[in-house]
Amino acid sequence: MISNILIANPAIERKSCKLIKNLEPVFPGGLLTFRSYFNYQTQLKFVTLITLLLFPFLSVKAAEPTLEIAWLGTSSIYISDGETSLFFDPFITRPSKSNVFTLKKLISNTDDVNEWLTKIDHRSTIQAIFVSHTHYDHVLDLVEVARETRAIVYGSQSTHKIIDKANSQPRENDEPKIFYQSIQLPKQENNELSYQTISDHGDFTITILPAKHTPHFCHVTLLKGKIKDSFKLPETVLGYRMGENFSFLIEHPLGNILFHPSSIAVEFEESFTQAKEADLIILGIQKVDDLSDLEQYVFDPFNVKTVIPVHYDYFFKPLKKGVIPFSSVNLKNVENSLHEKGINMHSFKYYGEKYIYNNASLK
Ligand SMILES: [Zn+2]
Repeated sequence: MISNILIANPAIERKSCKLIKNLEPVFPGGLLTFRSYFNYQTQLKFVTLITLLLFPFLSVKAAEPTLEIAWLGTSSIYISDGETSLFFDPFITRPSKSNVFTLKKLISNTDDVNEWLTKIDHRSTIQAIFVSHTHYDHVLDLVEVARETRAIVYGSQSTHKIIDKANSQPRENDEPKIFYQSIQLPKQENNELSYQTISDHGDFTITILPAKHTPHFCHVTLLKGKIKDSFKLPETVLGYRMGENFSFLIEHPLGNILFHPSSIAVEFEESFTQAKEADLIILGIQKVDDLSDLEQYVFDPFNVKTVIPVHYDYFFKPLKKGVIPFSSVNLKNVENSLHEKGINMHSFKYYGEKYIYNNASLK
């Protein structure tokens, strides 16, 4: 446009015409060819100049680093910083209620596992799988996820039995063995269990803490005790005995997360909680009538600000059916009780939804 204005200026037009006559042998097409050449050159210079001037403002700002959390039902949780990812309690295949209660063999569905792992952004960076306890709704897909991701598995001796059995029954002769590290928490002076810390996975530091299982009804917890030596794959629900229970403090420069799959409070070792904070807690709320114990022993010591509820969903239907809460759970009531304590709640609307988290201000 500027070049058009320049050429349209009579004084410049006259000079141009004189120049064109001199350049006629060079530009045999005459004035029109020169004008288009002149326009092109001037416009090119103009665009280059403007681009250089605007460059600092046009350059795309790099995305801020964050932690990404995704929920695949019950307490199946994925946490990633984009370079390293962790997976907790893999349970993706969700057998029907009749298959579970008529004691059918429960079989991990490889297609379902792959379909849902594909929804995870950084699947190839899953380095470690942690198991909170070995009821089937926490480990049915442990072997499949470990085989697909080649991640190392951390869990109790009962978890170890599952992996041992899987390693002795490879799908193919040359299938690599699943790596495993057994968790045996040391004891404090008062004989209570202490904790164990793992720092082998990128910027994550994971501390494994003792936990208690939520009773299934009244004060009864089903299928207690360790997985037996006679355990086979596949197994019925009865083979998946509970083993030890763990919670996990996941520390990262971008923020700390407490994963507490049980709704039962645990009095964690005071010297540990005094030195730690967890702005966010992923909390199993399968049976929450009263939050006061959790507030006293878990929320307050870790200075929790936000709760993500898990393990409240009806897990006898496939993940693709969407989040259906157990009839006994009223999420709104839980949210109101948390608000009264000054704590926010974020609930996932669908499986695989991502929660973006960045709180680098913690101690
Ligand atoms: Zn359980």
